[in-house]
Amino acid sequence: MECVSKSNNALVLSHCCNIVLIYQYMRRKESLTLFQKVTSVLGALYVADLVSGLAHLTFDRDTDYPFFKKNISDFQNHHLNPTLIKERSVLELFRQSTFTPFNAGFVLYNLTKYTSKPRILSQLIFLYACHLTQMIHMSAHKMNHATRSEKRKLHMRLLNMLQQSGILLKPEDHKIHHSSPKFDVNFCLINGWANPLLNKIVHIPRVYKWLFSSPLVKF
Ligand SMILES: [Zn+2]
Ligand SMILES: [Zn+2]
Repeated sequence: MECVSKSNNALVLSHCCNIVLIYQYMRRKESLTLFQKVTSVLGALYVADLVSGLAHLTFDRDTDYPFFKKNISDFQNHHLNPTLIKERSVLELFRQSTFTPFNAGFVLYNLTKYTSKPRILSQLIFLYACHLTQMIHMSAHKMNHATRSEKRKLHMRLLNMLQQSGILLKPEDHKIHHSSPKFDVNFCLINGWANPLLNKIVHIPRVYKWLFSSPLVKF
């Protein structure tokens, strides 16, 4: 119970920091070009996807970080039972996708002279994409485990459109992660854009041996 209330506090604090970030963005007078807007948004979405993949890879492996114990057990139990994530509440999914030091760190960074309006825009897109990670992950499972009649519903058709256009993680790409015997591929959870890079890094023989020679933690 105490752990949940700490997570709730972290979630509230994260969103308070996001409000400060929006304020920091609004009060800057410089105007952005279309190029700056597009590169800030796309760059932030790519980095957020890469970070989601690195976090997933970390939680999947035999690690012993007390702070992330819950995330580690959830990710690994989810391998055994992929539909488990659909049973989580929205609040729980947001809690699992929150890492307050990022939010607070960006607020502090923007108090320095090294920041700029495009950078604050990137930070906001990055943070909101990260906050939605587990919701997007759950949506991929929702589609993978939906019946034909469920898939015909309007909201599922819209979801399918976003997934197939590559804006959100494609269910079939995430299915590859769950069907690989060592869960050693396709870790990214937001849009999958960073999967080719992370898959290449993970499959460098030395890195692969280091990461996958030990079995997963058993909960
Ligand atoms: Zn996994
Ligand atoms: Zn999954």
